[in-house]
Amino acid sequence: MSVAAGREFLSIPGPTTVPDEVLRAMHRPAVDIYSGGLIDVTMGLLADLKRVFRTNGHTYIYAANGHGAWEAALCNVLSRGDKVLVLESGRFAVGWGEMATALGCDVEVLQGDWRRAVQPDAVEERLRADKSHSIKAILVVQVDTASGVVNDIPAISKAIRAAGHPALFMVDTVASLGTMPFEMDAWGVDVAVSGSQKGLMTPPGLGFVAANERAFERHKTADLNTPYWDWGFREGEEHYQKYCGTPPEHLIFALRQALDMLFAEGFEAAFERHRLLAEAVRRAVAVWSEGQALTFNITAPEERANSVTTVRWQYESSPQPLLDYAREKCGVVLGVGIGALSGRAFRIAHMGHVNAPMVLGTLSVVETALAALKIPHGRGGVQAAIDWLSENVRP
Ligand SMILES: *Cc1c(COP(=O)(O)O)cnc(C)c1O
Repeated sequence: MSVAAGREFLSIPGPTTVPDEVLRAMHRPAVDIYSGGLIDVTMGLLADLKRVFRTNGHTYIYAANGHGAWEAALCNVLSRGDKVLVLESGRFAVGWGEMATALGCDVEVLQGDWRRAVQPDAVEERLRADKSHSIKAILVVQVDTASGVVNDIPAISKAIRAAGHPALFMVDTVASLGTMPFEMDAWGVDVAVSGSQKGLMTPPGLGFVAANERAFERHKTADLNTPYWDWGFREGEEHYQKYCGTPPEHLIFALRQALDMLFAEGFEAAFERHRLLAEAVRRAVAVWSEGQALTFNITAPEERANSVTTVRWQYESSPQPLLDYAREKCGVVLGVGIGALSGRAFRIAHMGHVNAPMVLGTLSVVETALAALKIPHGRGGVQAAIDWLSENVRP
């Protein structure tokens, strides 16, 4: 017996649901790469990415996923043996740091807690202790998709400035860009990376990097630089140089459509939509938590991200039966726990192309699964989500 039919509902934190308009934008023949409209699309996207990152710096589009954007950022500004400080708040900054280690950097992890955001005071203290300024770069994520935390990037930037430290400030916005404010220049971020398949509503396969002049200066002496990622080559006049080869045309058409949709909605409206829908999810999780079988992974409410909610499992062996029920019986795919939370959490994504029926539908299926599997939970989580939306989305 199953009530799943038709399109599967993807509620995982990437790839996210691709809007039909974006899918349609890709359904066309390949085009010439040497002349015609594609060149204008490329130049328009490189300019529009500056609007998205909020920077006057340089932007680059890679035929790569988020890991590719990570490597691009590291290779362009670092040299073998450089010391890198990683600010832990889950899985992703640490993963980026592991890549820096593999590339030959000397990586130190400022240990964090999987249930809390990065503490700016701890960052300032560590940087003050680095009197010789041996640390060349600081890596952090804005939203950690594993723990569900949102880090306070302007506060961390302030801490770096308070310590008077010259390290490059490098921020991963893969799971936050397009879902919440990010102000690269105003916040003093030197390098920002992102990917196409989360808040930006585009299929996986494009990685983005933005760099300010300080980072671009560093690039000129960075000996980890390699031809494919090289910013210098990509600054060239020829169109093929922008991608170091054949442009990933169909993904570019998709991104054009997705950014048009984001601009039409407006950043403020998109951020507010994410905030309202995320809070609806949190209202439901708070009610379900009364049964003690599950709880928020992130303990401080203000540190919970508006793009994904990580729900910690503290009942029987694992949340797998709940995930299986949601998928097989109801057609909703929830995110599994990853890293230290593997088998100990599930995740509800609410980023990118999401709206009220999608979020309320997912929440309803989770509550159906909790009831069907007789997992102790507070009843009326979905009602709490409805109450929140009805009180805050005014007629
Ligand atoms: C998904 C994600 C990545 C990795 O992106 P891939 O496209 O899977 O390589 C990096 N950082 C964060 C915060 C992410 O959510």
